[in-house]
Amino acid sequence: MSKLISLNSLKNLDYEKIGLKCGLEIHQQLNTGKLFCKCPCEIVPNDTLDKSVERKLRFSMSETGDIDKAAMSEFKKGKYNIYKYNDKIACLVDLDEEPPGKLNQRALDTAVRVGQMMDIKFFDNFQFMRKLIIDGSVTAGFQRTCMLGLGGFIETSFGKVNINGINLEEDSSRTIERNSNHTIFALDRQGIPLIEITTGPQIKLPEQGFEVAKQLGNILRSFPETKRGLGTIRQDINVSIIGGARIEIKGAQNLKFIPNIIEAEVKRQLIHKSIIEELIERKVNADNFSDFQIYNVTEVFKNSTSKVILSNIKEKEGAVLALKLFSFKGILGHELHENYRFATEISNRNKKHFPEVKGLFHSDELPNYGITKEEVDNIRKLMKLKENDSFIIVANKKEVAENSLNWISQIISDLIWEVPSEVRQVDPKGTLTTFLRPMPGAARMYPETDVPTFEVTNNYLEEMQKQIPELSEKKISRISKDLNLEEGKVIEVLEKFSEQEIKNLLSVSKKSASVLYSIIFDIPKDIKKREKIEPLDFNYSLLEDLLKESEKNNFSQTVIRDIFLSLYKEKIESIENFSKYLEKKGFIGEAIGESEIEEKLKEIIEKNKGAPFGALMGHAMKEFGSKVDGKKISEMIKKLSN
Ligand SMILES: [Zn+2]
Repeated sequence: MSKLISLNSLKNLDYEKIGLKCGLEIHQQLNTGKLFCKCPCEIVPNDTLDKSVERKLRFSMSETGDIDKAAMSEFKKGKYNIYKYNDKIACLVDLDEEPPGKLNQRALDTAVRVGQMMDIKFFDNFQFMRKLIIDGSVTAGFQRTCMLGLGGFIETSFGKVNINGINLEEDSSRTIERNSNHTIFALDRQGIPLIEITTGPQIKLPEQGFEVAKQLGNILRSFPETKRGLGTIRQDINVSIIGGARIEIKGAQNLKFIPNIIEAEVKRQLIHKSIIEELIERKVNADNFSDFQIYNVTEVFKNSTSKVILSNIKEKEGAVLALKLFSFKGILGHELHENYRFATEISNRNKKHFPEVKGLFHSDELPNYGITKEEVDNIRKLMKLKENDSFIIVANKKEVAENSLNWISQIISDLIWEVPSEVRQVDPKGTLTTFLRPMPGAARMYPETDVPTFEVTNNYLEEMQKQIPELSEKKISRISKDLNLEEGKVIEVLEKFSEQEIKNLLSVSKKSASVLYSIIFDIPKDIKKREKIEPLDFNYSLLEDLLKESEKNNFSQTVIRDIFLSLYKEKIESIENFSKYLEKKGFIGEAIGESEIEEKLKEIIEKNKGAPFGALMGHAMKEFGSKVDGKKISEMIKKLSN
């Protein structure tokens, strides 16, 4: 009986029997200003990055005497990096032209208080370390990181989960574009403080993974110092099962997907394991699965109508080459995820080295893609394949196809030996994981001598303990009750304002929370929808002024909407003298009736017969000052002069 496990048969998994072990690694950005300089923690549009520097990676002896192989291979390829920035978001520290400045105390304090909420045992001294990063994403070639302590925990409804450690570190540069010979980075993200929390492997069920991530998020969001929004929190998931491998999964964007991601990864490993077992049953192993020869089957396609084959062999030196796989029938087409087969896994790994190879086909999927049954039969005949043997063909330049197939046989021999431990990327929907890179070795670290050690005294820890905030969930439900506002709306409001600011806005406006919510959140949405005008993000004091004026002048919601619209149209996000603005726009002040204006204008025109428009405008503006809109006067003069 076949050992192959089919995707559809995997329902209601027994995770205890499977031996699921799962841990999380959470990275949370702070908004306290960068870790070692005064630059803001702001991600800016790429087109505002008006400066750039170019850097080439150089390899050097490491302290143990060997040359870093990865750095060496990048150097040999002549790869270089471009860092884009502007003076607002990056400085000499970010460019690694100057040693790090003083450690951002607020960032450290926040990280310590986060640790205290998880019962972390802190070290006596905080010592920053340099962690080698050679892919160009950090200008210095190393990331500054400091482990603050270990041995914490959180309680979940499934049991205790250890917090192995908490680190404070610098974020890396943001990748804008990857090219074959260079990478373009933005320096806005470089140096933003990150809190890294690593849990132990006590997560035994997919649902528990979600609960742990939610709890950690809840703790982090309790601090006004944590950044909000897409990309400000990143979670890696470590998954392993008995007989499988430890896999680090990157790119989980939505907490809700975590259970699905864990489940999909467990299924993939189970199926991969079953493929290895089935091959053992068929007496196929890493040494004998192929004769390791490359067959030229180009002549089979002499009269082919397959577009993808033709386009790849049209070129000079184009060829269709093949690799023989003994007793592989049904293996290549076997699904690891939905619509993601063992051959897809092989093809994806091959693309990391040979991105130009698109025409890769295997016997389990043919005839198809314009390749006929007759052509398939001819390939089998030419390669002398037996009924249960399989083949992979690659159509490309002969040299590329040959190198690629040799690489593919290496990939297959690795994959049928074991489920490799590696870093994988999850797709945005959280349904499948794909190979990203091999698991990195233990990070090489050495002390950062430019940053002084921080002595952790009991006094300091007690001081921090006093400032531990209320848990975000509790705060939301408390405010919701206090203000009689739905929790969803409270969350939305808290994304924008602190509790103190909310209280203040309520007191100046003398409105209920729900009316205030509708002014601040519903009006912009309505304007966007109906007027197709992009709302602006008013600064706090403008909003406060607006609500004060609204209370003083008893503005209706319609008038407030008109004021919003007027500000949006002029792209005003902050303003010094708001009441003057309202006067100028005619929203407040002694109302001058239309007929009165017309009367006065007629007089001016009569008095200055024949004067040019500009002169009339000048006289009129002197008369009305800011009480009437200039545009309105100009329109009326034009009408009256005709
Ligand atoms: Zn800076």
